[in-house]
Amino acid sequence: MGGINKDIKLIDENGKRIDGRSFNELRPIKIEAGVLERADGSAYIEWGNNKIIAAVYGPREVYPKHMQDPSRAVLRARYNMAAFSVDERKKPGPDRRSIELSLVISNALSSVVLLEQFPRTAIDVFIEVLQADAGTRIAGLTAASVALADAGIPMKDLIVGCAAGKVDNTVVLDLNKEEDNYGQADLPVAIIPRTKEIVLFQMDGDMTFDEVEMGLNMAIDAALKVYELQKDALRRKYINLAQEDEQQ
Ligand code: ADP
Repeated sequence: MGGINKDIKLIDENGKRIDGRSFNELRPIKIEAGVLERADGSAYIEWGNNKIIAAVYGPREVYPKHMQDPSRAVLRARYNMAAFSVDERKKPGPDRRSIELSLVISNALSSVVLLEQFPRTAIDVFIEVLQADAGTRIAGLTAASVALADAGIPMKDLIVGCAAGKVDNTVVLDLNKEEDNYGQADLPVAIIPRTKEIVLFQMDGDMTFDEVEMGLNMAIDAALKVYELQKDALRRKYINLAQEDEQQ
């Protein structure tokens, strides 16, 4: 968050944002399930200019062994941004940001996966950001939950989200990179769609209470639209599999 910058206008006199969207419009989103052969489950998401792959392995044996939990599976999500995913080459390997994002994503996913069914095992979720353009934690989480479903891991529901934020003193939905860099606030939100429970909620920047409430409501409404795309991706995967079976 750069804070308000008088030199860079992010919303024009007609209320249009720099990429032509209105204040409550999502970027275009495409989701595909089952994109990797080797993984137990996988998904690919394009969300605006973000391109992200999620791969799931497990439930499987836990290494190192002392990380086992005798009462439930441990779900370990690892968020990683490829060195080529941003304009300036990013230093490879985990940094403070990716460690934090891995933790909040692990916690969010753990709230829906039925971990008690798989004691002493690990469920590993890899999120690889190939191209980053703001909103990657939510896009990654959205793909990861499709990948978990694709792996056949029992869950209460999928998890889905969207970010809202504030640019040019206006509450807007789904910030892109310029809006994230030069805007005033970013508010990523993820929910369990069926119950509308909030499983991830963070804020970077400054917003009033009323603005947060408005942003939160916009993010939840948008997340429910993305939920339909997640279910479509899973349906498409199983229709394709059924057609392949018929042809054999
Ligand atoms: P999110 O991607 O969830 O919005 P941030 O708000 O931390 O997370 O990051 C916003 C955007 O800033 C990222 O999507 C990415 O485009 C860019 N970014 C983040 N970290 C780096 C980095 N180390 N180098 C270059 N750009 C980065």
